[in-house]
Order: sequence, then structure tokens, then C-alpha cells
Amino acid sequence: MLSVSERLASLSPSATFAMAQKSSELKAQGIDVVSLSVGEPDFNTPNHIKVAAKKAIDDNFSFYSPVAGYLELRKAIVEKLKKENGLTYTPAQIVCSNGAKQALCNVLLSVVGKGDEVLIPAPFWVSYPEMVKLADGIPVIIYSDIKSDFKITPEQLEAAITPKTKVLMLCSPSNPTGSVYTREEMKGLAEVLAKHPDIIILSDEIYEHINYLDKHVSIAEFPEVFDRTVIVNGVSKGYAMTGWRLGWIAAPKWIADACGTLQGQYTSNPSTIAQKAAEAAYVGDQQCIADMRVAFERRKNLVVKMAREIPGFVVNEPKGAFYLFPDCSAYFGKSYKETRINNPEDLALYLLAEAHVACVGGTDFGAPNCIRMSYANSDEQLVEAFKRMKDALEKLS
Ligand code: PMP
Ligand code: GLU
Repeated sequence: MLSVSERLASLSPSATFAMAQKSSELKAQGIDVVSLSVGEPDFNTPNHIKVAAKKAIDDNFSFYSPVAGYLELRKAIVEKLKKENGLTYTPAQIVCSNGAKQALCNVLLSVVGKGDEVLIPAPFWVSYPEMVKLADGIPVIIYSDIKSDFKITPEQLEAAITPKTKVLMLCSPSNPTGSVYTREEMKGLAEVLAKHPDIIILSDEIYEHINYLDKHVSIAEFPEVFDRTVIVNGVSKGYAMTGWRLGWIAAPKWIADACGTLQGQYTSNPSTIAQKAAEAAYVGDQQCIADMRVAFERRKNLVVKMAREIPGFVVNEPKGAFYLFPDCSAYFGKSYKETRINNPEDLALYLLAEAHVACVGGTDFGAPNCIRMSYANSDEQLVEAFKRMKDALEKLS
């Protein structure tokens, strides 16, 4: 019988891209949709980065590079880690990939085996459990809610650890909640992990530069866990380069080597042009990051205020990234005409149909009471989106 493999049959499509697709389809029909679905900066890639990419084409950077990326780029990343994070790595510990997404998958495929447990604090980014399943691992979810600002405690972490725990995935600043672990909170987690030397920490820091709280804290800064922490990062979010597909890991050498072997067999190096662009991003003027962060913070303040004016939304104040994740469960059980809202996905579809605003339901983020809104959009569009949503939500009874 012709069929996809068992592995694929049990894999869910990405909810973020599914909603983005629905919103594009409506736009193609001429409907004016405000998209708060897929999370990516609305800014153009800074000019000096584009110039470097054009130069790379003219200079014929058109051949395969080393699988892990050009040495110059890996040196630039080592320098960034030293300067911004106070962490010491060698270029051999850096592997560049097609986005942070591939970097995460590489690590999971490299260290997780059948039946290994991977701890994932919820709410989580939709792709984490699916990536773990691809690696034949078992996602073990540690739940948190709005009362703890969507962060887990050291006690919860300790309670979730079993002899089968192989990896803990962390994401701070978080997609989808915007929560950021403080240094003190991160230390609490590191102290628990110090007692469990066989657990690898996969620290997704893709939103490092979009932090309204303070200086970014990486769990790798705690010496007790440094030698088994893998940092995942990239240029997608901080430098507005989602389409360039350039992410990387900074890892213990044995994990970097494993990821290099894996990547060497299935995708080889990431695009050489994107690598030269990323190198320019890391060695160039960092003012562009600061400017975008300021704009995101202003929009965060704007959307928090507007969301708090919507009856029934319970809103936490994000400290980073560019997502708002209100609890919308007050609308469950309500109806308008033929439409009954039973869960956040119903609400997202209702808002798309009635208000022409695209959001993503929280269930695939491990939060079935919440709905995600990306505020990486212009102030005008955000004001318009919240006005439309407020009107549509008022119709539900
Ligand atoms: N991690 C998180 C938490 C994300 O939100 C994203 C966004 N796509 C990624 C990783 C993947 O980033 P990239 O586009 O570099 O693959
Ligand atoms: N990280 C973004 C999001 O969560 C991009 C889409 C994706 O890769 O899932 O919307």
C-alpha cells in the first residue's frame, strides 16, 4: 500500500504556518487580513547585511563551504558569545544550519534515542514536541500557567526528572509567552540540573536580542551546567533575517561533531550567501538590533494596553520576544450565529472569519486556554487588529 511512514503519520503540521497559510489564502481573495499569526519581524534586513550578501554573490561565494559553516562566520559567532554572553567557545564547537529550527532538530536527532524523555516546559513553541517525536523521544511536558508568568519552578523541574530524562529544552525569552527567566530563576534551574549530570540542556536563545527586562541570561553562564548545555541561536529574529535561514549551535565538542556528521549527510552547509550575510550581522554595527528592540517594546506596551481593554482576556506582561498570549477561556461556550467557540482554535478561526485578524490557538503550544498574537506588525495595523477583534468578540454571547 502506498503510504507515508509511521514517523510522518504521527507528525502534526506546524500550527503557526497553517494559520499563516489560511491568512494568505484570504488575502489572495482580496480580503484585508491583519496577520498576527506567524512570528517574524516586520522590518527589512538591515542594509549593511544586504550589501554583504550582494558582495558575496559578486565575489563568487557560490561553492560548498565546510558543513558547519565558514571559519570566519564561526569565529564571528565565537566572538559574539565572548563579548555579549561572557562565554568561551572555539570555532569547532559551532555548527551553522538552515535556521535555528534545523539546529534544534540536529541536536535532538544527535542525542535522543528511542524512549528517551525530553522535558519541555509549557507553553512551548509548537515544533518542540514534534521534533522530539521525530527523534523517537518522548516529550514530557512540565505545565505552567499565567499565575507563574508561564515559568516553571525548580521544584517542578526536579519532580519531572526520571532516570530516562535525556534533555531539558528551555526557551527564554519565550515563544509563545514572552516570559523571560531572571538570573535568579535561571540559577534555580541550574542548581537542580547540577544534581543530574546526565541531562543535556538545549537552550533556545533565538529571542536573545528582544528582551525588555534586562541583559540576556543564558543557562550556559552557570559553570555547573556549561559543559552539557547547547545554545541554539541565529540571525532570524534579532537581525530580521527569517527568510535567510541561518541558525547555529554552540555546543560541547562531541555534540557539535555529531551534528556536523548528521548535517553532512542530509543538508550539507547552509547557504553560503546567508553565511556571509550573517557574518556581516555579527561583526557589523549592532545599532540595528537596539532600534528594532525599542520598536518591539513600544508595540508590546501598546498591545498589552489594548488587550487589557478587551473583556474576558487575561493578559500577562511579556518581557521579551514579540508575542502576546492572553488567556481567552472566558469566551469558551459562547456563540455568534452558527459559530460556537469551544477552544482557542475555534476562537482563532472566528477572529479570522469575523474580524479578518489571524492569530494562532494555544493548544499546539501546550496552552489550551490561550491564543497567540504576534505584535511584530506596524502600530497602525495593531490598533486596527485590536479594534476589529474587540468588535467581533463583543458579538459573542
Ligand atoms: N525557536 C523558536 C522559539 C522560534 O520561535 C523560532 C521561530 N521560527 C525558531 C526557533 C526557529 O528559528 P529559525 O527561523 O531561525 O529557524
Ligand atoms: N517562530 C515563528 C512562529 O512561531 C515562525 C514560524 C515557525 O517557524 O513556526 O510563528
